[in-house]
Amino acid sequence: MKMISLRKWVIKFFFGTSIFLLMLSLVLIVLTSLYANWMGTTQAKNERLNERIADQEQRIQSLKQNVVAQNKTVSRMRTKLEKSEEELQEIREMEIKLRRFLDLKHKKPLSEDRSHQGGFKMDGDGEVAEIPMENSTANMKSDQVVSYSLTLKESLREVVRSLEQKKEQLRHTPSILPVKGEDVWMSADFGRRTNPITGRREMHTGIDVAGGYKTPIVAPAEGKVYRIGESRILGKYVRIRHSDGLRTTYGHLHSFATKKGARVERGDVIGYMGNTGRSTGTHLHYEVVHNSKAKDPMKYVLDRKSQTLSLR
Ligand SMILES: [Zn+2]
Repeated sequence: MKMISLRKWVIKFFFGTSIFLLMLSLVLIVLTSLYANWMGTTQAKNERLNERIADQEQRIQSLKQNVVAQNKTVSRMRTKLEKSEEELQEIREMEIKLRRFLDLKHKKPLSEDRSHQGGFKMDGDGEVAEIPMENSTANMKSDQVVSYSLTLKESLREVVRSLEQKKEQLRHTPSILPVKGEDVWMSADFGRRTNPITGRREMHTGIDVAGGYKTPIVAPAEGKVYRIGESRILGKYVRIRHSDGLRTTYGHLHSFATKKGARVERGDVIGYMGNTGRSTGTHLHYEVVHNSKAKDPMKYVLDRKSQTLSLR
């Protein structure tokens, strides 16, 4: 009895254990495969993530490059804009000079309300007021540059029309610096000043242009030499009559290259720069008289920018 139940127990035990082990193996197999599966997915996920990160990094890199390129373009365009503003300003100065020279006034506002934002503004009577350079150019925006240049073009057309009408008169109007060469400079401008020799306040009725000894002096317009002479103050001088009311004088010459009564054209050499008369150094004293009134000769100099002739 005892034996039988022991065998039964042993059989039961082995049977049970086998089933248990079988179940355990099954569970282990399932768990292992689940784990392997999970590992596989995670790895794939990681790989995808890495790929996306690399992708994004590449995009960031190319965006950075874009930004750098765009910054370069912007700064290039800004430089160009500034350059064109400067050039417009130069044309504008030339235009103002031409208008003064031709006695032309602005009849209409230059460009609606914007005329004040740009490089210039006008007084009530239409005269152009001088504006400091830095304000006039730096504040202009690109669309203002466009409207500014359109207005300028219109204004210049009028100047050209006037030039054509006055062609004959202009041949007789001084319009160039009567000194040859580039290495010349203004040593005294027109107007009230303290005389360097007498120390007294007086009116300087012309401009002094200094340069090298014997620099050629040329006629600034067509005319007739009506006087050649030598005086204590002016030294050797030449006077030219260009038209009824317009005369010019050249003082402190070293020597003459023309004769009394000679007809001269613009650019003809009439003498050489010197230091004769009441003079402290080699220079030309240049005077323009219109209807018996001394005028600022720089208003009759269109071929040089005033900056290149500034006082020194
Ligand atoms: Zn002088």
